[in-house]
Amino acid sequence: MRILVTGSRGWTDGEKMTRALGPWFSFDNILVSGHCPKGADAMAERLWAGWLDMTVAGAIRKGYIEIHPADWKLHGKAAGFTRNGEMVALGARVCLAFACMCWKEECADEPAHVTHGTADCAGKAETAGIDTRWETDGLAVLPGLRQGAGDDGEGQHAPAQPAGRDEQEHGALRGERQARSDHATPEEVRE
Ligand SMILES: [Zn+2]
Repeated sequence: MRILVTGSRGWTDGEKMTRALGPWFSFDNILVSGHCPKGADAMAERLWAGWLDMTVAGAIRKGYIEIHPADWKLHGKAAGFTRNGEMVALGARVCLAFACMCWKEECADEPAHVTHGTADCAGKAETAGIDTRWETDGLAVLPGLRQGAGDDGEGQHAPAQPAGRDEQEHGALRGERQARSDHATPEEVRE
């Protein structure tokens, strides 16, 4: 089975990730990762390789971890969003999203939302019908649960189509427009 992980660059909670990712580990499964060098991607790769008793590089070489780094040169600031679409299109048994709250000062979105790259990837996975499960840093409010959820959404399944397909696609487009129009570096936009 393909186990897709996505998450924020600021994710640091190894215990929470171990609880969520551990049950999906098997020598027969493949960890699919965007291979961001910081945060959730890197932590998931380290954990997975550790369970294999391999180095991350070795696990990648032997196909236990499949990486999809964003091509910033080819796709510019929207590279992360482009990559998410391609990665999701390859399919997965489950998408595990490890979401921190967006702290970008220049971000005009309402407070307490998930970092944009993670929201984009998990949103695309949900839209594609992949079983998508969220963990949060306890601050981020999940997409589709901004009103009256009453907790941090830890461990719950987000609604399969929280905003409806059209709105989700609109949201993704808006994200890409934002990515092109703001002045963040590509690495920041990935959040
Ligand atoms: Zn934001």
